[in-house]
Amino acid sequence: MQTEVPAGMKGPTAIGVDVGASHVLAVLVDSDGEVLRVASGPAPSASAADTAAAIGALVRELIPDEVVGVGVGVAGQVDFQTGSVCISPNIGWRDVPLRRLIEREVGLPVILDNDAHAAALGEVRWGAGAGHDPVLVVTWGTGIGGGLVAGGRIYRGRWGGGLEIGHIMVMPRGPRCGCGNRGCLEALAGGRSIEAEYERRAGRRASVREIAALARQGQREARAVLRRAARFLGRALGGLVNLFQPEMIILVGGIAGAADLVLDVVREGLRTQALPGVNREIVTVVGELGEMAGPLGAACLALERWGGAS
Ligand SMILES: [Zn+2]
Repeated sequence: MQTEVPAGMKGPTAIGVDVGASHVLAVLVDSDGEVLRVASGPAPSASAADTAAAIGALVRELIPDEVVGVGVGVAGQVDFQTGSVCISPNIGWRDVPLRRLIEREVGLPVILDNDAHAAALGEVRWGAGAGHDPVLVVTWGTGIGGGLVAGGRIYRGRWGGGLEIGHIMVMPRGPRCGCGNRGCLEALAGGRSIEAEYERRAGRRASVREIAALARQGQREARAVLRRAARFLGRALGGLVNLFQPEMIILVGGIAGAADLVLDVVREGLRTQALPGVNREIVTVVGELGEMAGPLGAACLALERWGGAS
């Protein structure tokens, strides 16, 4: 649909939505990646229909006159063709037709992808990954996800569920993961495992954000649990480097906000596991877009599909 672009906006606009386990964040973006408006809502609930209605309300808050569509990145395994969430261990959904539910709420075309895929696209188009290829983006938050942009395109696997790097096994007979298996990377380095490990060592509960803040102040237990998680993550990244040999690895997500404290540990783990030579020299950085990587990337999905951007 051809629409008039309001003054101050460049080209087509789209809305991007990031559906995490603990937040929903939506942005209105123009074709240069300029964020025009931001809206945030409550964490998704067990009812996908209620969540879709809340996303609909957020989108209506953002709509100027017309946008080309809405991109949504969700923390979970997505069937890209049908627009369904196959499973989201951290939100607690299984077989949810989220694209259809949101389309019904907003009356706009919706494109649904995994949140890490969306974040990867955001960082590559408008963040730390600009000009690099291939780029591996790792979302390090409550869960751990991955997105690979190669040849300028997101690699999704056959149905859209590729790069679930949080569920690579890193410890045989390790702790139980939200997916049902044992010893997954997410069960040893994800936000919930960091919180559990902190409680075990410090004898009190704290959120991962508080732990990051304590680590920044130099608290011993907080530093130790973050470094432990970073070692597991780094080793897993070394294995991924051996598989994909990206030009760059970018860390994004809630814990990545504290990644500067442990980036040396991540890099050391990577070097231990990566094959000798160039694989050990892969650049690992923290993303530039912060929590905007997901929603910006989701908007980018919509712009690329319906806005003529590429
Ligand atoms: Zn798992």
